[in-house]
Amino acid sequence: MFSSILHSSSSSIPTPPVSRPLTPIEGNGSLKTISLSLTKIENDQIKKSCPFEKYGCKFVGNRLSIQEHMRDQNDIHITLIGEKLQPFREEIFEGIEAIKVTHEKAEKIENQAKKLIHCYSSAYMWHIEDYPEKYRLAKKGTKIFVESPKFLTSRFGYAITVFLAPFGDLETSRIYSSIYVSIMPGQHDPVLH
Ligand SMILES: [Zn+2]
Repeated sequence: MFSSILHSSSSSIPTPPVSRPLTPIEGNGSLKTISLSLTKIENDQIKKSCPFEKYGCKFVGNRLSIQEHMRDQNDIHITLIGEKLQPFREEIFEGIEAIKVTHEKAEKIENQAKKLIHCYSSAYMWHIEDYPEKYRLAKKGTKIFVESPKFLTSRFGYAITVFLAPFGDLETSRIYSSIYVSIMPGQHDPVLH
């Protein structure tokens, strides 16, 4: 057994030394940093097209010159975009017009809804704008009454208007506020008794 092992050992072909790749000693990482810096410098020098190339800008340059181009010549890009949008001008204006019309329709519907609320509701909300000024004018005697918009007593009811004298009227003047309700000509009068 021992001799066979010896025999086998002596007859085997010597294995050539394996060549291993040399690994750089990176130490504190400075080698790696230098390598990355070089890559960055190389990348900065690569010439590229302007980001507005698809709009027709022909400028080509390295990173720094593209930055300068974007900073100093941006008006070229605005002009180019304007030219690109020119064929769609009509459509853009039509779109804006359509939005305006939709907005107006929405306002109309909102106003109609407000009117309906007034017609069906048991309460009428009368918002008096700038009341202090109206009170001042009434006190001064310049304009004694504030007049409400005409509104209906019900969906198909009488049209009425409210008159308010903030500083009073006649014998109540300077003591109480006066309020008068007046029936006005309305669209449902022919069917009302
Ligand atoms: Zn450009």
